[in-house]
Amino acid sequence: MADDLDLFVIGGGSGGVRAARMAAQRGAKVAVAEMGALGGTCVNVGCIPKKLYSYAAHFSEAFEEAHGFGWPVKRPEFDWELLKSNRALEIERLNSVYEAVLLAAQATLLRGRARIVSPHEVVVDGQRFRARHILVATGAHPLQAQMPGAEHAVSSNEMFDLPRFPQRLIVVGGGYIACEMASIFRGLGAQVTQLVRGSRLLRGFDDDAAAFLAVEMGKKGVDIRLGTHVQRIGREGDTLHLTQHDGQVLEADTVLMATGRVANTQGLGLEDAGVALGQRGEVIVDAHYRTNVPSILALGDVTDRIQLTPVALGEAMVLVDRLFGPGKRRMDYELIPTTVFTHPNLGTVGLTESEARQRHAAVRTYVSEFRSLKHTLSGSSERTLMKLVVDDATDRVVGLHMVGADAGETVQGFAVALRAGATKAVFDSTVGIHPTAAEEFVTMREPAAR
Ligand code: NDP
Repeated sequence: MADDLDLFVIGGGSGGVRAARMAAQRGAKVAVAEMGALGGTCVNVGCIPKKLYSYAAHFSEAFEEAHGFGWPVKRPEFDWELLKSNRALEIERLNSVYEAVLLAAQATLLRGRARIVSPHEVVVDGQRFRARHILVATGAHPLQAQMPGAEHAVSSNEMFDLPRFPQRLIVVGGGYIACEMASIFRGLGAQVTQLVRGSRLLRGFDDDAAAFLAVEMGKKGVDIRLGTHVQRIGREGDTLHLTQHDGQVLEADTVLMATGRVANTQGLGLEDAGVALGQRGEVIVDAHYRTNVPSILALGDVTDRIQLTPVALGEAMVLVDRLFGPGKRRMDYELIPTTVFTHPNLGTVGLTESEARQRHAAVRTYVSEFRSLKHTLSGSSERTLMKLVVDDATDRVVGLHMVGADAGETVQGFAVALRAGATKAVFDSTVGIHPTAAEEFVTMREPAAR
Protein backbone atom coordinates (compact mmCIF):
# COMPACT_ATOMS: atom_id res chain seq x y z
CA MET A 1 0.00 0.00 0.00
CA ALA A 2 1.26 3.46 -0.89
CA ASP A 3 2.06 6.04 1.77
CA ASP A 4 -0.82 7.68 3.59
CA LEU A 5 -2.21 10.78 1.94
CA ASP A 6 -3.93 13.76 3.49
CA LEU A 7 -6.30 14.18 0.56
CA PHE A 8 -7.25 11.94 -2.33
CA VAL A 9 -9.18 13.83 -4.99
CA ILE A 10 -11.26 11.90 -7.52
CA GLY A 11 -11.76 14.05 -10.60
CA GLY A 12 -9.41 16.53 -12.25
CA GLY A 13 -11.96 19.16 -13.23
CA SER A 14 -12.33 22.72 -12.00
CA GLY A 15 -13.24 21.85 -8.40
CA GLY A 16 -10.92 18.86 -8.00
CA VAL A 17 -7.83 20.53 -9.38
CA ARG A 18 -8.39 23.69 -7.38
CA ALA A 19 -8.83 21.69 -4.16
CA ALA A 20 -5.78 19.52 -4.87
CA ARG A 21 -3.55 22.43 -5.77
CA MET A 22 -4.51 24.55 -2.78
CA ALA A 23 -4.25 21.66 -0.34
CA ALA A 24 -0.82 20.70 -1.70
CA GLN A 25 0.33 24.32 -1.49
CA ARG A 26 -0.58 24.22 2.19
CA GLY A 27 1.69 21.27 2.70
CA ALA A 28 -0.88 18.48 2.48
CA LYS A 29 0.09 15.23 0.79
CA VAL A 30 -2.33 15.05 -2.14
CA ALA A 31 -3.14 12.72 -5.04
CA VAL A 32 -5.60 13.36 -7.86
CA ALA A 33 -7.08 10.64 -10.05
CA GLU A 34 -8.44 11.53 -13.48
CA MET A 35 -9.31 9.03 -16.18
CA GLY A 36 -10.01 11.57 -18.92
CA ALA A 37 -8.51 14.88 -19.93
CA LEU A 38 -7.60 17.28 -17.14
CA GLY A 39 -9.82 20.31 -16.73
CA GLY A 40 -13.14 18.49 -16.67
CA THR A 41 -16.30 19.67 -18.38
CA CYS A 42 -15.40 23.37 -18.32
CA VAL A 43 -12.12 23.04 -20.18
CA ASN A 44 -12.90 20.14 -22.48
CA VAL A 45 -16.57 20.21 -23.43
CA GLY A 46 -18.09 23.18 -21.63
CA CYS A 47 -17.33 26.82 -20.86
CA ILE A 48 -14.09 27.18 -22.79
CA PRO A 49 -14.86 25.54 -26.16
CA LYS A 50 -18.37 26.99 -25.95
CA LYS A 51 -17.05 30.54 -25.53
CA LEU A 52 -14.49 30.05 -28.30
CA TYR A 53 -17.25 28.87 -30.65
CA SER A 54 -19.42 31.78 -29.55
CA TYR A 55 -16.64 34.16 -30.61
CA ALA A 56 -16.49 32.31 -33.92
CA ALA A 57 -20.22 32.66 -34.38
CA HIS A 58 -20.19 36.41 -33.69
CA PHE A 59 -17.97 36.95 -36.75
CA SER A 60 -20.85 36.19 -39.10
CA GLU A 61 -22.72 39.23 -37.74
CA ALA A 62 -19.56 41.29 -37.74
CA PHE A 63 -19.08 40.72 -41.49
CA GLU A 64 -22.61 41.95 -42.16
CA GLU A 65 -22.45 44.85 -39.73
CA ALA A 66 -19.12 46.03 -41.13
CA HIS A 67 -20.83 47.42 -44.26
CA GLY A 68 -22.56 50.21 -42.37
CA PHE A 69 -19.21 51.32 -40.98
CA GLY A 70 -17.56 51.62 -44.37
CA TRP A 71 -16.13 48.12 -44.73
CA PRO A 72 -17.95 46.55 -47.66
CA VAL A 73 -16.49 43.09 -47.01
CA LYS A 74 -17.90 39.92 -48.51
CA ARG A 75 -18.70 37.18 -46.03
CA PRO A 76 -16.05 34.48 -46.43
CA GLU A 77 -16.71 30.74 -46.26
CA PHE A 78 -16.75 29.38 -42.74
CA ASP A 79 -14.14 26.66 -42.17
CA TRP A 80 -15.44 24.18 -39.54
CA GLU A 81 -12.30 22.02 -39.71
CA LEU A 82 -10.08 25.01 -38.98
CA LEU A 83 -12.15 26.09 -35.99
CA LYS A 84 -12.18 22.54 -34.61
CA SER A 85 -8.44 22.08 -34.93
CA ASN A 86 -7.65 25.50 -33.42
CA ARG A 87 -9.98 24.72 -30.54
CA ALA A 88 -8.36 21.32 -30.01
CA LEU A 89 -4.91 22.91 -29.83
CA GLU A 90 -6.04 25.45 -27.27
CA ILE A 91 -7.75 22.80 -25.15
CA GLU A 92 -4.61 20.65 -25.27
CA ARG A 93 -2.63 23.65 -24.08
CA LEU A 94 -5.05 24.13 -21.19
CA ASN A 95 -4.89 20.40 -20.33
CA SER A 96 -1.14 20.72 -19.94
CA VAL A 97 -1.47 23.91 -17.90
CA TYR A 98 -3.70 22.00 -15.48
CA GLU A 99 -1.15 19.21 -15.27
CA ALA A 100 1.70 21.66 -14.74
CA VAL A 101 -0.21 23.43 -11.98
CA LEU A 102 -0.75 20.16 -10.11
CA LEU A 103 2.83 19.03 -10.51
CA ALA A 104 4.19 22.41 -9.46
CA ALA A 105 2.15 22.14 -6.28
CA GLN A 106 3.68 18.68 -5.74
CA ALA A 107 0.39 16.80 -6.00
CA THR A 108 0.56 13.28 -7.41
CA LEU A 109 -1.41 12.82 -10.63
CA LEU A 110 -2.83 9.36 -11.29
CA ARG A 111 -4.20 8.62 -14.74
CA GLY A 112 -6.91 6.07 -14.19
CA ARG A 113 -10.33 5.23 -12.82
CA ALA A 114 -10.59 5.54 -9.06
CA ARG A 115 -12.86 3.45 -6.89
CA ILE A 116 -13.53 4.02 -3.22
CA VAL A 117 -13.16 0.73 -1.37
CA SER A 118 -13.52 1.93 2.22
CA PRO A 119 -14.03 5.29 3.95
CA HIS A 120 -10.27 5.91 3.76
CA GLU A 121 -9.16 3.85 0.78
CA VAL A 122 -9.18 4.32 -2.96
CA VAL A 123 -7.97 1.92 -5.63
CA VAL A 124 -6.67 3.18 -8.97
CA ASP A 125 -5.76 0.52 -11.54
CA GLY A 126 -5.09 -2.04 -8.82
CA GLN A 127 -3.00 0.33 -6.69
CA ARG A 128 -4.43 1.02 -3.24
CA PHE A 129 -4.13 4.41 -1.53
CA ARG A 130 -5.03 5.38 2.03
CA ALA A 131 -6.14 8.93 2.66
CA ARG A 132 -7.37 10.94 5.63
CA HIS A 133 -9.93 12.67 3.36
CA ILE A 134 -11.39 11.56 0.03
CA LEU A 135 -12.90 14.28 -2.16
CA VAL A 136 -15.35 13.32 -4.89
CA ALA A 137 -15.28 15.97 -7.60
CA THR A 138 -16.31 13.90 -10.58
CA GLY A 139 -18.74 16.36 -12.16
CA ALA A 140 -21.75 15.46 -14.27
CA HIS A 141 -22.59 14.24 -17.76
CA PRO A 142 -25.41 14.95 -20.22
CA LEU A 143 -28.64 13.17 -19.45
CA GLN A 144 -29.99 11.25 -22.39
CA ALA A 145 -33.75 11.83 -22.68
CA GLN A 146 -35.73 8.61 -23.03
CA MET A 147 -37.53 8.41 -26.36
CA PRO A 148 -37.53 6.09 -29.36
CA GLY A 149 -34.49 6.85 -31.48
CA ALA A 150 -32.71 8.88 -28.79
CA GLU A 151 -29.51 7.06 -29.81
CA HIS A 152 -29.49 9.07 -33.07
CA ALA A 153 -29.10 12.31 -31.12
CA VAL A 154 -25.83 13.72 -29.79
CA SER A 155 -25.10 15.51 -26.52
CA SER A 156 -23.24 18.76 -25.98
CA ASN A 157 -20.07 16.66 -25.50
CA GLU A 158 -20.07 15.76 -29.20
CA MET A 159 -21.12 19.14 -30.59
CA PHE A 160 -17.64 20.65 -30.60
CA ASP A 161 -16.18 17.88 -32.73
CA LEU A 162 -18.95 16.90 -35.13
CA PRO A 163 -17.29 15.27 -38.16
CA ARG A 164 -19.43 17.39 -40.50
CA PHE A 165 -20.85 20.84 -39.87
CA PRO A 166 -24.63 20.40 -39.40
CA GLN A 167 -26.39 22.52 -42.01
CA ARG A 168 -29.69 21.61 -40.34
CA LEU A 169 -29.60 21.34 -36.56
CA ILE A 170 -32.42 20.54 -34.16
CA VAL A 171 -31.80 21.40 -30.52
CA VAL A 172 -34.06 19.80 -27.91
CA GLY A 173 -34.30 21.70 -24.61
CA GLY A 174 -34.74 25.22 -23.35
CA GLY A 175 -31.99 25.48 -20.76
CA TYR A 176 -28.50 27.00 -20.72
CA ILE A 177 -26.90 24.51 -23.07
CA ALA A 178 -29.77 24.33 -25.56
CA CYS A 179 -30.00 28.12 -25.90
CA GLU A 180 -26.23 28.59 -26.18
CA MET A 181 -25.78 25.85 -28.77
CA ALA A 182 -28.78 27.08 -30.79
CA SER A 183 -27.31 30.60 -30.89
CA ILE A 184 -23.79 29.47 -31.67
CA PHE A 185 -24.62 27.08 -34.49
CA ARG A 186 -27.06 29.60 -35.97
CA GLY A 187 -24.25 32.16 -35.94
CA LEU A 188 -21.92 29.68 -37.62
CA GLY A 189 -24.44 29.29 -40.41
CA ALA A 190 -26.67 26.32 -39.53
CA GLN A 191 -30.43 26.35 -39.94
CA VAL A 192 -31.48 25.85 -36.31
CA THR A 193 -34.79 24.69 -34.84
CA GLN A 194 -35.06 24.67 -31.05
CA LEU A 195 -37.77 22.48 -29.53
CA VAL A 196 -38.79 23.48 -26.01
CA ARG A 197 -41.33 21.40 -24.11
CA GLY A 198 -42.31 24.26 -21.77
CA SER A 199 -43.91 27.58 -22.52
CA ARG A 200 -40.68 29.60 -22.27
CA LEU A 201 -36.91 29.47 -22.47
CA LEU A 202 -34.67 29.29 -19.42
CA ARG A 203 -36.97 28.32 -16.61
CA GLY A 204 -35.82 30.01 -13.41
CA PHE A 205 -34.54 33.14 -15.14
CA ASP A 206 -36.47 36.44 -15.10
CA ASP A 207 -39.63 36.16 -17.22
CA ASP A 208 -39.08 39.43 -19.09
CA ALA A 209 -35.44 38.64 -19.80
CA ALA A 210 -36.23 35.12 -21.06
CA ALA A 211 -39.09 36.34 -23.26
CA PHE A 212 -36.93 39.15 -24.66
CA LEU A 213 -34.13 36.71 -25.41
CA ALA A 214 -36.51 34.41 -27.27
CA VAL A 215 -37.50 37.32 -29.53
CA GLU A 216 -33.88 38.31 -30.16
CA MET A 217 -32.80 34.74 -30.89
CA GLY A 218 -35.78 34.44 -33.21
CA LYS A 219 -34.72 37.60 -35.08
CA LYS A 220 -31.33 36.02 -35.66
CA GLY A 221 -33.03 33.04 -37.25
CA VAL A 222 -33.37 30.42 -34.52
CA ASP A 223 -36.77 28.79 -35.05
CA ILE A 224 -37.89 28.42 -31.42
CA ARG A 225 -40.91 26.18 -31.00
CA LEU A 226 -42.37 26.35 -27.49
CA GLY A 227 -44.70 23.69 -26.11
CA THR A 228 -43.19 21.14 -28.46
CA HIS A 229 -42.48 17.57 -27.41
CA VAL A 230 -40.40 15.08 -29.32
CA GLN A 231 -42.06 11.78 -30.09
CA ARG A 232 -39.27 9.93 -31.83
CA ILE A 233 -36.18 10.25 -33.94
CA GLY A 234 -35.43 8.08 -36.95
CA ARG A 235 -32.53 7.88 -39.38
CA GLU A 236 -32.45 7.37 -43.12
CA GLY A 237 -28.92 7.47 -44.47
CA ASP A 238 -27.38 10.72 -43.25
CA THR A 239 -30.73 12.36 -42.59
CA LEU A 240 -32.50 12.32 -39.24
CA HIS A 241 -36.28 12.56 -39.02
CA LEU A 242 -37.66 13.99 -35.81
CA THR A 243 -41.37 13.60 -35.16
CA GLN A 244 -42.99 16.27 -33.00
CA HIS A 245 -45.97 15.49 -30.71
CA ASP A 246 -48.32 17.01 -33.30
CA GLY A 247 -47.09 14.60 -35.96
CA GLN A 248 -45.00 17.16 -37.85
CA VAL A 249 -41.74 15.64 -39.07
CA LEU A 250 -38.56 17.71 -39.20
CA GLU A 251 -35.41 16.75 -41.08
CA ALA A 252 -31.97 17.39 -39.68
CA ASP A 253 -28.31 16.50 -40.04
CA THR A 254 -27.83 16.58 -36.27
CA VAL A 255 -30.18 16.47 -33.30
CA LEU A 256 -28.73 17.78 -30.05
CA MET A 257 -30.34 16.66 -26.81
CA ALA A 258 -29.68 19.36 -24.25
CA THR A 259 -32.11 18.10 -21.66
CA GLY A 260 -30.11 18.40 -18.48
CA ARG A 261 -27.13 16.81 -16.77
CA VAL A 262 -26.71 14.12 -14.18
CA ALA A 263 -24.01 13.54 -11.53
CA ASN A 264 -21.11 11.18 -12.25
CA THR A 265 -21.49 8.83 -9.32
CA GLN A 266 -21.62 5.46 -11.06
CA GLY A 267 -18.79 2.98 -10.53
CA LEU A 268 -17.06 5.03 -7.82
CA GLY A 269 -17.84 2.60 -5.01
CA LEU A 270 -19.88 5.26 -3.22
CA GLU A 271 -22.76 2.96 -2.35
CA ASP A 272 -20.36 0.29 -1.04
CA ALA A 273 -18.68 2.89 1.16
CA GLY A 274 -22.12 3.84 2.50
CA VAL A 275 -22.29 7.33 0.93
CA ALA A 276 -25.88 8.55 0.63
CA LEU A 277 -26.98 9.63 -2.85
CA GLY A 278 -30.00 11.73 -3.79
CA GLN A 279 -32.83 10.83 -6.14
CA ARG A 280 -30.92 11.94 -9.21
CA GLY A 281 -27.81 10.02 -8.14
CA GLU A 282 -26.07 13.11 -6.79
CA VAL A 283 -23.86 13.03 -3.69
CA ILE A 284 -25.63 14.56 -0.74
CA VAL A 285 -23.43 16.91 1.28
CA ASP A 286 -23.84 19.28 4.21
CA ALA A 287 -22.75 22.92 4.35
CA HIS A 288 -19.13 21.75 4.76
CA TYR A 289 -19.21 19.40 1.74
CA ARG A 290 -19.24 16.35 4.02
CA THR A 291 -21.20 13.31 2.99
CA ASN A 292 -22.77 11.09 5.64
CA VAL A 293 -19.38 9.28 5.74
CA PRO A 294 -17.21 11.85 7.58
CA SER A 295 -13.99 11.19 5.64
CA ILE A 296 -15.67 11.42 2.21
CA LEU A 297 -16.40 14.86 0.83
CA ALA A 298 -17.90 16.09 -2.43
CA LEU A 299 -18.28 19.39 -4.27
CA GLY A 300 -19.13 20.86 -7.65
CA ASP A 301 -21.51 19.40 -10.23
CA VAL A 302 -21.51 15.93 -8.64
CA THR A 303 -23.55 17.43 -5.80
CA ASP A 304 -26.09 18.75 -8.35
CA ARG A 305 -26.54 22.13 -6.72
CA ILE A 306 -25.35 25.16 -8.68
CA GLN A 307 -23.53 23.76 -11.71
CA LEU A 308 -21.10 26.57 -12.44
CA THR A 309 -17.30 26.47 -12.58
CA PRO A 310 -16.78 29.49 -10.31
CA VAL A 311 -19.05 27.88 -7.71
CA ALA A 312 -17.00 24.66 -7.76
CA LEU A 313 -13.81 26.75 -7.43
CA GLY A 314 -15.29 28.70 -4.52
CA GLU A 315 -16.40 25.51 -2.81
CA ALA A 316 -12.95 23.97 -3.24
CA MET A 317 -11.26 26.97 -1.64
CA VAL A 318 -13.67 27.02 1.31
CA LEU A 319 -13.20 23.27 1.82
CA VAL A 320 -9.40 23.36 1.69
CA ASP A 321 -9.41 26.30 4.06
CA ARG A 322 -11.40 24.23 6.53
CA LEU A 323 -9.39 21.02 6.13
CA PHE A 324 -5.87 22.41 6.00
CA GLY A 325 -6.10 26.04 7.04
CA PRO A 326 -7.63 28.35 9.56
CA GLY A 327 -10.89 28.56 7.65
CA LYS A 328 -14.23 29.01 9.22
CA ARG A 329 -15.53 30.52 5.96
CA ARG A 330 -18.68 29.31 4.28
CA MET A 331 -19.51 29.70 0.63
CA ASP A 332 -22.21 32.31 0.18
CA TYR A 333 -24.68 31.08 -2.44
CA GLU A 334 -26.63 34.35 -2.55
CA LEU A 335 -26.18 36.71 -5.48
CA ILE A 336 -24.20 34.38 -7.73
CA PRO A 337 -24.03 36.09 -11.12
CA THR A 338 -24.32 34.02 -14.25
CA THR A 339 -24.55 34.47 -17.99
CA VAL A 340 -26.06 32.39 -20.71
CA PHE A 341 -23.79 32.94 -23.71
CA THR A 342 -26.57 33.18 -26.21
CA HIS A 343 -26.52 35.75 -29.00
CA PRO A 344 -27.19 38.19 -27.44
CA ASN A 345 -26.03 37.17 -23.94
CA LEU A 346 -28.40 36.97 -21.02
CA GLY A 347 -26.63 38.10 -17.84
CA THR A 348 -28.21 38.05 -14.43
CA VAL A 349 -27.52 38.46 -10.72
CA GLY A 350 -29.93 38.26 -7.82
CA LEU A 351 -33.65 37.72 -7.78
CA THR A 352 -36.01 37.51 -10.69
CA GLU A 353 -39.01 39.82 -10.44
CA SER A 354 -41.30 36.96 -9.40
CA GLU A 355 -38.85 35.69 -6.75
CA ALA A 356 -38.56 39.24 -5.39
CA ARG A 357 -42.34 39.58 -5.23
CA GLN A 358 -42.50 36.38 -3.18
CA ARG A 359 -39.72 37.45 -0.84
CA HIS A 360 -40.48 41.16 -0.37
CA ALA A 361 -43.74 42.93 0.47
CA ALA A 362 -43.31 45.59 -2.20
CA VAL A 363 -41.05 45.63 -5.22
CA ARG A 364 -40.28 48.22 -7.90
CA THR A 365 -38.86 47.33 -11.28
CA TYR A 366 -37.06 49.54 -13.77
CA VAL A 367 -36.89 48.40 -17.36
CA SER A 368 -35.08 49.88 -20.32
CA GLU A 369 -35.21 48.49 -23.81
CA PHE A 370 -33.26 50.12 -26.60
CA ARG A 371 -31.21 49.77 -29.75
CA SER A 372 -27.56 50.20 -28.91
CA LEU A 373 -25.56 52.98 -30.57
CA LYS A 374 -23.58 50.46 -32.61
CA HIS A 375 -26.71 49.24 -34.34
CA THR A 376 -27.68 52.71 -35.59
CA LEU A 377 -25.09 52.09 -38.32
CA SER A 378 -24.72 48.31 -38.31
CA GLY A 379 -28.10 47.59 -39.84
CA SER A 380 -28.78 45.02 -37.12
CA SER A 381 -32.19 45.08 -35.50
CA GLU A 382 -30.81 43.65 -32.23
CA ARG A 383 -32.17 45.33 -29.12
CA THR A 384 -30.96 45.38 -25.54
CA LEU A 385 -32.97 44.88 -22.34
CA MET A 386 -31.97 46.03 -18.89
CA LYS A 387 -33.98 45.47 -15.79
CA LEU A 388 -33.56 46.31 -12.13
CA VAL A 389 -35.61 44.76 -9.35
CA VAL A 390 -35.70 46.88 -6.19
CA ASP A 391 -37.01 46.05 -2.72
CA ASP A 392 -39.23 49.02 -1.87
CA ALA A 393 -38.72 48.78 1.89
CA THR A 394 -34.92 49.03 1.83
CA ASP A 395 -34.39 50.54 -1.65
CA ARG A 396 -31.84 47.75 -2.24
CA VAL A 397 -31.37 46.50 -5.77
CA VAL A 398 -32.09 42.79 -5.32
CA GLY A 399 -32.04 41.71 -8.96
CA LEU A 400 -30.33 42.88 -12.14
CA HIS A 401 -30.92 41.37 -15.58
CA MET A 402 -29.58 42.16 -19.00
CA VAL A 403 -30.06 40.78 -22.48
CA GLY A 404 -27.54 42.34 -24.79
CA ALA A 405 -24.03 42.33 -26.15
CA ASP A 406 -21.44 41.33 -23.57
CA ALA A 407 -24.03 41.13 -20.80
CA GLY A 408 -21.65 38.81 -18.93
CA GLU A 409 -18.98 41.52 -18.81
CA THR A 410 -21.47 44.14 -17.64
CA VAL A 411 -23.23 42.04 -15.03
CA GLN A 412 -19.97 40.90 -13.40
CA GLY A 413 -19.25 44.46 -12.26
CA PHE A 414 -22.78 45.14 -11.10
CA ALA A 415 -22.72 41.88 -9.11
CA VAL A 416 -20.15 43.51 -6.82
CA ALA A 417 -22.53 46.42 -6.27
CA LEU A 418 -25.39 44.10 -5.39
CA ARG A 419 -23.24 42.09 -3.00
CA ALA A 420 -22.18 45.34 -1.35
CA GLY A 421 -25.87 46.06 -0.80
CA ALA A 422 -26.18 48.95 -3.23
CA THR A 423 -29.51 50.74 -3.11
CA LYS A 424 -31.29 52.24 -6.08
CA ALA A 425 -30.20 55.64 -4.72
CA VAL A 426 -26.57 54.49 -5.01
CA PHE A 427 -27.20 53.42 -8.60
CA ASP A 428 -28.80 56.85 -9.28
CA SER A 429 -25.85 58.71 -7.81
CA THR A 430 -23.35 56.73 -9.90
CA VAL A 431 -22.12 58.63 -12.93
CA GLY A 432 -22.64 56.79 -16.19
CA ILE A 433 -19.93 56.08 -18.73
CA HIS A 434 -21.05 57.60 -21.99
CA PRO A 435 -21.70 56.22 -24.50
CA THR A 436 -22.06 52.66 -23.24
CA ALA A 437 -25.01 50.33 -22.90
CA ALA A 438 -24.12 49.73 -19.24
CA GLU A 439 -24.78 53.37 -18.34
CA GLU A 440 -28.46 52.61 -18.73
CA PHE A 441 -28.32 50.73 -15.42
CA VAL A 442 -27.53 53.99 -13.59
CA THR A 443 -29.89 56.25 -15.52
CA MET A 444 -33.25 54.49 -15.18
CA ARG A 445 -35.52 56.76 -13.16
CA GLU A 446 -39.16 55.83 -13.78
CA PRO A 447 -40.40 52.54 -12.32
CA ALA A 448 -41.92 50.18 -14.86
CA ALA A 449 -43.99 48.43 -12.24
CA ARG A 450 -44.67 48.76 -8.52
P1 NDP B 1 -30.88 22.86 -17.79
O1 NDP B 1 -31.40 22.22 -16.56
O2 NDP B 1 -30.47 24.29 -17.76
O3 NDP B 1 -31.94 22.69 -18.96
C1 NDP B 1 -32.51 21.47 -19.29
C2 NDP B 1 -33.58 21.74 -20.33
O4 NDP B 1 -34.01 20.51 -20.87
C3 NDP B 1 -34.79 22.44 -19.77
O5 NDP B 1 -35.25 23.34 -20.73
C4 NDP B 1 -35.78 21.29 -19.58
O6 NDP B 1 -37.11 21.68 -19.68
C5 NDP B 1 -35.42 20.44 -20.78
N1 NDP B 1 -35.79 19.03 -20.64
C6 NDP B 1 -35.50 18.19 -19.63
N2 NDP B 1 -35.96 16.96 -19.91
C7 NDP B 1 -36.53 17.01 -21.12
C8 NDP B 1 -37.18 16.08 -21.96
N3 NDP B 1 -37.33 14.83 -21.58
N4 NDP B 1 -37.67 16.50 -23.14
C9 NDP B 1 -37.54 17.79 -23.52
N5 NDP B 1 -36.92 18.73 -22.79
C10 NDP B 1 -36.44 18.34 -21.60
O7 NDP B 1 -29.69 21.90 -18.22
P2 NDP B 1 -28.47 22.11 -19.21
O8 NDP B 1 -28.07 20.73 -19.56
O9 NDP B 1 -28.80 23.08 -20.29
O10 NDP B 1 -27.38 22.75 -18.28
C11 NDP B 1 -26.99 22.11 -17.07
C12 NDP B 1 -26.33 23.09 -16.15
O11 NDP B 1 -25.04 23.38 -16.63
C13 NDP B 1 -27.02 24.44 -16.05
O12 NDP B 1 -28.05 24.43 -15.10
C14 NDP B 1 -25.90 25.35 -15.66
O13 NDP B 1 -25.78 25.36 -14.27
C15 NDP B 1 -24.69 24.69 -16.29
N6 NDP B 1 -24.28 25.46 -17.50
C16 NDP B 1 -23.82 26.72 -17.34
C17 NDP B 1 -23.47 27.48 -18.43
C18 NDP B 1 -23.01 28.89 -18.23
O14 NDP B 1 -22.63 29.24 -17.13
N7 NDP B 1 -23.02 29.72 -19.26
C19 NDP B 1 -23.56 26.95 -19.78
C20 NDP B 1 -24.06 25.62 -19.84
C21 NDP B 1 -24.41 24.90 -18.73
P3 NDP B 1 -37.96 22.21 -18.42
O15 NDP B 1 -37.53 23.59 -18.17
O16 NDP B 1 -39.36 22.08 -18.91
O17 NDP B 1 -37.64 21.25 -17.30
